[in-house]
Amino acid sequence: MEWTSLEEKWRQRWEEEKYFETDPNSNKKFFVTVAYPYPNSPQHVGHGRTYTLADVHARFMRMLGYNVLFPMGFHYTGTPILGMARRVQDNDTKLLETFRTLYKVPEDKIKEFVEPIKIADYFHQEIKAGMIEMGYSIDWRREFTTIDPVYSKFIEWQFGKLKEKNLIIQGTHPVGWCPKDQNPVSQHDTQGDVEPSFTEYTIIKFRYDKYVIPTATLRPETIFGVTNIWVNPEFVYEIIQVDNETWIVTSECARKLEFHNKTITRLGNMTGKDLVGKKVQVPERNDQVLILPASFVKSGNGTGIVMSVPAHAPFDYQALEDLKKDITKYPNLSEIQDVKAIPIIQTEGYGQIPSLDAITKFQIEDQNSPKLEEATKEIYSKEFYGGRLTQNTGKFANKTVSEAKEEVKKWMLQGKNADILYELNETPIRCRCGAECVVKILSNQWFLNYSDPEWKAKVHSWINEMKILPEEIRNEFNNVVDWLRERACARQHGLGTKLPWDKNWIIESLSDSVIYMAYYTIAKYVNNKEITSENTPDVFFDYIFLNKGSLESIASQCKIAPELLEKIKNEFQYFYPVNARHSGRDLVPNHLTFFIFNHIAIFPKQYWPEEIVVNGSVLMDGKKMSKSEGNIIPLRDAIRNHGADSIRLAILISAELLQDADFNQEAVKGIKNKLENMLEECSKYQSGNIVKLEQEDKWIKSKMEQLVHKTTFSIQKMRLREALHFILYEFESDLQWYTKRALAKKRNDFSGILHEVSSIRVSMMSPFAPYASEEMWSRLGNAGIVSKSTWPDYHENMIDFESIQSENLLKNTIEDIKNIIKVTKITPKKITIYTSAQWKVKAYQKILSKVVSGEVNIGAIIRSLIADKETEEIKKDPDFVKKTVNDILSESQEERESKNRIGLIDEKKILSELDSLVQAEFGITSQVFSESDQDKYDPKNKSRTSRPYKPAILIE
Ligand SMILES: [Zn+2]
Repeated sequence: MEWTSLEEKWRQRWEEEKYFETDPNSNKKFFVTVAYPYPNSPQHVGHGRTYTLADVHARFMRMLGYNVLFPMGFHYTGTPILGMARRVQDNDTKLLETFRTLYKVPEDKIKEFVEPIKIADYFHQEIKAGMIEMGYSIDWRREFTTIDPVYSKFIEWQFGKLKEKNLIIQGTHPVGWCPKDQNPVSQHDTQGDVEPSFTEYTIIKFRYDKYVIPTATLRPETIFGVTNIWVNPEFVYEIIQVDNETWIVTSECARKLEFHNKTITRLGNMTGKDLVGKKVQVPERNDQVLILPASFVKSGNGTGIVMSVPAHAPFDYQALEDLKKDITKYPNLSEIQDVKAIPIIQTEGYGQIPSLDAITKFQIEDQNSPKLEEATKEIYSKEFYGGRLTQNTGKFANKTVSEAKEEVKKWMLQGKNADILYELNETPIRCRCGAECVVKILSNQWFLNYSDPEWKAKVHSWINEMKILPEEIRNEFNNVVDWLRERACARQHGLGTKLPWDKNWIIESLSDSVIYMAYYTIAKYVNNKEITSENTPDVFFDYIFLNKGSLESIASQCKIAPELLEKIKNEFQYFYPVNARHSGRDLVPNHLTFFIFNHIAIFPKQYWPEEIVVNGSVLMDGKKMSKSEGNIIPLRDAIRNHGADSIRLAILISAELLQDADFNQEAVKGIKNKLENMLEECSKYQSGNIVKLEQEDKWIKSKMEQLVHKTTFSIQKMRLREALHFILYEFESDLQWYTKRALAKKRNDFSGILHEVSSIRVSMMSPFAPYASEEMWSRLGNAGIVSKSTWPDYHENMIDFESIQSENLLKNTIEDIKNIIKVTKITPKKITIYTSAQWKVKAYQKILSKVVSGEVNIGAIIRSLIADKETEEIKKDPDFVKKTVNDILSESQEERESKNRIGLIDEKKILSELDSLVQAEFGITSQVFSESDQDKYDPKNKSRTSRPYKPAILIE
C-alpha cells in the first residue's frame, strides 16, 4: 500500500476544499487550541500526541456541525534558541552531531545556525511540514511567530494592562536561577523541561556558645514542643559567618544561603560528633535542650540540623525511642532517659501523643522505615486542618494550627530568632547550560504578582467552574494556584518583546504566551497585510478585545478603515472564548495555570477559557523518550515509515488521557495492516436495499446504533482509546459474526447492509484516521469527502433488543459447542441441543426481575417461586436458582436490563437457525428439542441440565 501518495492525494483535496479555513458564519463556533511549539528541534513522535488529540477533537466537532477554528503559531521567545546558537558558534560537537544525524539538517543550514533566528525559522518550517503531513486540520492563514512586530505590540498591550491593574510589581522575591547564566530559569530553560518549584522553610535559630544552630522547618508553631535537636554525627559541618552571626550548617546549606542575599564567609569546620551532647538555648523559651545524634538527618535538606518535636513528628519520636534503646552506645548521654515528648497541639482523632498513634497505626519499627514519610504527612495534614494549640503555648494558646503557623513565624522573625530558607522541591534541576539550578532571592526585578490573594481567589473559583478533563486533574490545578507566587517576568537576554516601561528587560517566554489565543483572530489580517504594527497601538487592542472606545475615533487613531476595525472586532467576539485547550500534563504547573490567571485578569468573564484537556506523555517501547536513551523518533521520519494514520492511531489507542501512551513498532505495524485490510473490504461492498430484513440484519443494524451511541459518548469525554477500541475492534468482531451468519445461510443479498454499516463506521473513524477514511469513503462510492460528512445520529428506537438476544444465544451456543469439542477431543458426528422446559423459562423471568430490582437472596427467591403454581416445579431442582442467579450476576447491567425488557424469547425457534452454522463449521447436522418434548432424542438425559440462555448440548 502506497501511503505517501494516498496521503498526498487527500491532502490536496482538503486544500482545494479549503475546509479547514474558518471564518465567522451563522453556525455555532468551536475554538480549539494547543500550546504552540517551541522551534528548537523537530517534533518527535511524543509531541504528536497532544496535537493529534486536538485534531481529533476539532474534526469531531466539525462533523457535529460546529464552525471549528484550529490555528497554530510558533513560540520563538526565550533563551534556549539563543543558547543553541551560542553552542553552534562554539563548535559544540555534540550538538552539531545531533543536528546532522538525528535531525538530518543539511550542512549549509547548520552553518547558518550561528544566528538564533535561523534555527527558529528552520525548525518552524520543519514542524509545520510535519503537522501538515500528520493531517492536522489547521487554518494556516492565522499562523504567526512571537517575534512578529504586531505580536510584540499585542504583548506590550497585555503587560500594560497587567501593570495598570497592579499585577506587575517591582520587588525582591525568590526565583529559580542559573548561577552560570545569571538568569532566572523556568521550564523552557531546564534539562528535561522541569519547572523549578520551591518551598519556603522557616529557619529557627537555636544558640550554643557563640554559635547559631539553625534548623529549617515547615512547622514553626511547634517550637513549643521542641525536646532536643538532631545532628548527623557522620557529617562535617561548616562554620560560616552570616552577616554578623556565626552559623553551623552543612556545606550544601551554605551554598543555598549564598543566593539568599546574605554575605557568607567560611570560617572552619566542626563534626556532627563534636556537637552531640552539647546543649542549645531554645529561642523564646527559657530553657536548654540537648543536641542528639540521628541517622535520618540528610545533608541536602534544610540546614542539615533538625529540631525535634517528638509529640507531633513521627521521625523525631522514633529516633528518640531508637536512641533510648541504644543508650549503651552513648555513655555520656544518660539524660536522654528524661527527654519526654511535649504535646502542644490537640486534634480530634488523636490521643495525647499523635506521633505515637501514627507509629502504631503504620507499624513503624525504626527511624529508617519508609512508612515514616506517610505517617508524617498524615499528621501534618490533620493537624493543619483540625488542630488547635494547647495552653502551654503562651499567647498562641487556642489558636488553630493554620493561624498559629504564620503568627509564630512572624513573631520569631521580628525577634531575630528566625529566618527564611527557600528550597527546590526537586533536586537536582539542571539548566540547559549544565549548571545546577538554585533558588535565588532576586532584588528589584519585575514580577507578575501571582501571590495576589484576590487574583488567586478568582482563579480558584473559575477552575472549580470550568470543564477540566480528566476530572482528576482539577485538584492539581488548585494546588498549583495555592503554591504559585511572584514570578519574575523579565530577563536580561533572549528573544522577545521589551518591557514597555523599562526597555532594559525582555519579557520572558512563559509570560508572553498566556493570552495569545486571542491573537489568532487578528493574525489573519496581519498575514493579509491589512494591518501592520503601525495600525496597532494599545487602543486598537482595547477596542478589539475589550470593546473600549468609539469606532470612528479608534479607527482614525489606528489609521484603519472603520469597516475593517469592526470586522476584526466581530471576528474576535465570534471566536472567543477558547472552547478547548489541549496540553500535556507538564504544562499544568506553569503555562496552563498562567493561561487561566491572565485571561481572568485581562478579559471579561465571557471570554474566559471554557475547557482544558490534559494528556500524559508518550513512551517508546515502554521507556521514556530521551536523547540519551537514543530512542527519539522524529515525527516526519515516522510518517515516512508508517504513514500518518498508523501513527495517529498508535498514539491514541494505547492509553487514555492521563496515562502514558506507549509507541512501539509492533503495534504500529498491526494498525497499518488493519487499515489496509479495511481498505480492501471497502472496495467490495455496494449500496442497495434489502426488501425484508433477516434477524442478523436487524442485529448488525442494532449493533451499529449501539456503536454510534457509545462512541459519541466516549469522544465527548475525550476517552479516545475506548472510542477507537469500539470502532476498530469490537465492531470488527460483530461484522465477522454477521458475515458468517449470512454466508452460512447462503445469502447473496447482504452487500447493501455491509455497505451501509461500513460507511457509518468509516465516518466515525475519520477524525482519528483521516487519510484512510477518505480513501475508504471513496472506495465505498460515497459522495464528497468524509471529513465533511455529518456525524452519524443515534436512533434508540432502531435497536432491536430481541435480535440482539437471539444472536447472542446463537453465538454463545456455537462457542460452547466448540469448547466441548476442544476439551473432549471427539470428532463430532451428531449434535443435539435442548432448550429449557416452560417452567424454567417462567422461573428465569422471575429471578431476572428480582435480581434487576436488587434481590439476590437465594432462599427468599426459592420460597417465592415455590409459592407460585407456574414455577413450583423448582422443588425438583433447587440448584437451578443458584446457578441462574450466578448466570445473571456475571452479565453486565445493560445485558440484564435488555433481557428483562424483551421478556420471553423462543429459544427453540432461534436455535433452529443453528443448523446452517453447524453445517458450515463442522459439516454435520444438528437437532433441537425442548426439554418438555415427549418424543425427544435424549439418550444421556442431558435435557435436564438446560437453563434459559444456557441450552444443554449433546455431542456424539
Ligand atoms: Zn544556565
